[in-house]
Amino acid sequence: MSDLNVVHATSLARVDDGGQPRRGPTQGDLGIIADGAVAIRNGVIVAVGTTDEVLASHGDDVPTIDGQGRCVLPGLVECHSHPLFAGERHHEYAERLAGASLAEVAARGGGIWSSVLATRQAGDDELLARLGTSLRRIVSGGVTTLEVKSGYGLTVDEELRQLGLLQQARSLTPMQLAVTFLGAHVVPRDLDGDIERPADDRAERYTDLIEGDMLSAVVAQGLAQFQDVTVEQGYFSPEQALRLMRRSRQLGLPVRVHADAWAPSHGWRTAVEGGAVSAEHLTYTPAAEIREVGRTDTIAVVLPMAELIYMTSQRADARLFIEQEVPVAVATDFCSSIHATSLLNTLATAAPWFRMTPAEVIVGATLNAAYSLGMQASCGSLDVGKRGDLLILACAHPDEVCLAVGAPLLDTVVIAGEVAVGAGS
Ligand SMILES: [Zn+2]
Repeated sequence: MSDLNVVHATSLARVDDGGQPRRGPTQGDLGIIADGAVAIRNGVIVAVGTTDEVLASHGDDVPTIDGQGRCVLPGLVECHSHPLFAGERHHEYAERLAGASLAEVAARGGGIWSSVLATRQAGDDELLARLGTSLRRIVSGGVTTLEVKSGYGLTVDEELRQLGLLQQARSLTPMQLAVTFLGAHVVPRDLDGDIERPADDRAERYTDLIEGDMLSAVVAQGLAQFQDVTVEQGYFSPEQALRLMRRSRQLGLPVRVHADAWAPSHGWRTAVEGGAVSAEHLTYTPAAEIREVGRTDTIAVVLPMAELIYMTSQRADARLFIEQEVPVAVATDFCSSIHATSLLNTLATAAPWFRMTPAEVIVGATLNAAYSLGMQASCGSLDVGKRGDLLILACAHPDEVCLAVGAPLLDTVVIAGEVAVGAGS
């Protein structure tokens, strides 16, 4: 909780918060200020504007960073990650690149289920050590607020243990964390120790378990800020997901949705119908469904690294979501099978992948991501009253983020007025 002035930034992208996520023609408004400055006191932003304006009110003697020749962005907000896992899956990617199908990889013991088994077997210390490494990588990619999901447990006890570890991780990082309960990640193969029952029956019985004991325990112990539910052919049906979403709302836990990652599954429509704050992936959501649903407050979170690494045959239609005035966010989907920790590099990929402008992807990983986490009061833009989280980049204009792919642009990450990454950290 420190005092800091950043002055003379060649461009300062304020992404000012107008009280709602950005959509349609405003998705790309960065609100750039030339010769910009920010003043942070006790970890909170107290002034933003031109250097002259900010120094006129806050020119007192505090640590100061000169931003000449550089640009300043709000701290990035990563709204989709699964960082708590054990085991290795790089061989699966190699197999798929060599031509194996997903079904073949799963038949050889791969897929999410292999991570569930490895994570259940791993001790707390082992999981926290690996999680700590991942969190350090994520913050050094410019993220200052991070959503983290459970979902490699899939029993009451294991989901509670993993959520507890994610809560403990707050002490491992300066990032703000939002913890999400993802019991409905996949249907566990060993429900009741019976791996032979037909999958449909297992999905129904597992939905009962989540709706009953699992959600009650998660809420009673105050372990999560969201529930996430997968709506996908062969995973959970729209009806099962709507049941879980209804119960979640009754218990006061807002819902996120994994939707249409592998096939058109009515995931987008179900997320909106169930009042989800966000729907994520949307790779196979049909254009007709996006048009039918139209404008909505549910945020569409697109995940380019997932589509790239899973080699999907389609991409999320981010342009159509923007045209329909749906707010769009961008995230990494860091998980046991996607080790993309740099949100900045993910933005550089997202721009050509989805034909989004640099400004649109930056809004997608700041203000709109903050709204998807309900944390817009503290992050997502450089506005007075929000936490003093910002990035200083070694380039004059934010558009450079999408051109300087992989270049070490990120000079400094400031969290609550303290240098978390960079000189002086
Ligand atoms: Zn995911």
